[in-house]
Amino acid sequence: MNTDLIIIGAGPGGYRAAEYAAKQGLKVVIFECSEVGGTCLNVGCIPTKTYVHSASFAEARERMASVVLQLRSGVEAILSHPNITLVRGRASFIDANTVSVGNDSVAAKNIIIATGSETKWLPIKGMDDPRVVDSTGLLNLDTLPKRLTIIGAGVIGMEFASVFNRFGSEVTVIEYLKECLSALDSDIAKRLRKLMEKRGITFKMKTAVENVADIDADCILMATGRKPRTPGYTNVDVNFRVSDGVYAIGDVNGKQMLAHAAEMQAVRAVNHILGKKDNIRFDIMPAAIFTEPEAACVGPTEDALKSATSTGASPSGYTCHKAFWRANGKALAMNETEGMLKLFSAADGRILGCHAFGAHSADIVQEVSALMCRDTTVDQLRDMVHIHPTLSEILLSAIQ
Ligand code: FAD
Repeated sequence: MNTDLIIIGAGPGGYRAAEYAAKQGLKVVIFECSEVGGTCLNVGCIPTKTYVHSASFAEARERMASVVLQLRSGVEAILSHPNITLVRGRASFIDANTVSVGNDSVAAKNIIIATGSETKWLPIKGMDDPRVVDSTGLLNLDTLPKRLTIIGAGVIGMEFASVFNRFGSEVTVIEYLKECLSALDSDIAKRLRKLMEKRGITFKMKTAVENVADIDADCILMATGRKPRTPGYTNVDVNFRVSDGVYAIGDVNGKQMLAHAAEMQAVRAVNHILGKKDNIRFDIMPAAIFTEPEAACVGPTEDALKSATSTGASPSGYTCHKAFWRANGKALAMNETEGMLKLFSAADGRILGCHAFGAHSADIVQEVSALMCRDTTVDQLRDMVHIHPTLSEILLSAIQ
């Protein structure tokens, strides 16, 4: 069988590529060896956010299944487009233009690899201990662990720490580095960690786990990162092309391991196949951490800006504008007074980035991200009317 485009993997990268390509008139064959929706829908973004928005562990377990099922049927509907053929099974390459599942093979001029990522297990002594789980294992637990130890204070570790603390587990986080959430401004990250400490979570920073057997807990979550599921596709060009006619998008290329990044990379790859230009700004990639309260960022940290100024890479320097949730009317009305925002601008006033923690900080950072895509300056932002009372007014407070 011949087709226009083969896609391997039906996660956010793969199904978005299929949907967009099909709407543009391409005939698509998409392979999926598990459930459609990928990590994000089945064991990642969506189940974890269902946990964040559930009052108890029991409610979270119950709601997770129905939310996932509902969204999965939405993806199945997307993939039922007349230009798309969904093939269930593990695909493998026969040659650079041909992919097979079992005895069936499909050939196409263009192939998009969107096979995602998997847990990175560290080679620590005692890892075969039955108490050790990854994020998927933790989501599948039937009973709430009394004592949960989390190895790694990155995004996955911090989100689970926050939610299991609220459910009533005794949570300890062990992290090798000095601070949690390395992509977040260290000042913001420290304040968030201190707040989580006040809520009862124990943090052991600058600590290396040597033997899992030494950990006194009922369950141990390994949250030390993820790695591409299919090795060898991290070397991609600006169009996410590995070689002529072969593209690698989403987590498998290891560039920006986020669902929204996978979706936008899908659009870029399909545009390249179609010979279309786009203006997607991959240099402006907002991200959020759904702790309670949440944290979010876009652009460099203050540490990176400081170092660029001192090394002469960016000699004209930067300005840091700060604001606090406790000084915002809506935050006070919501009783969500914990939070701080830092907005950075260049010498010419252009907004360089924003890092924050506090209720709905992801929505505020999203606004900044949109402004950055249009090279907006602080002066221009100051002239933009913001609804009162809203949390977005925190941005205006920062620059006034
Ligand atoms: P995936 O979603 O992993 O999809 C790849 C698909 O390919 C899978 O369905 C797999 O079965 C299939 N596949 C693999 N090999 C083959 C093969 N040979 N043949 C056929 N099919 C194959 N990101 C966010 O942006 N926001 C969040 O809040 C967030 N929370 C997360 C929470 C957790 C616990 C985890 C683990 C991840 C989270 N992520 C989040 C990351 C997000 O899930 C990924 O960035 C996203 O799923 C990547 O999409 P993808 O399409 O590249 O890969």
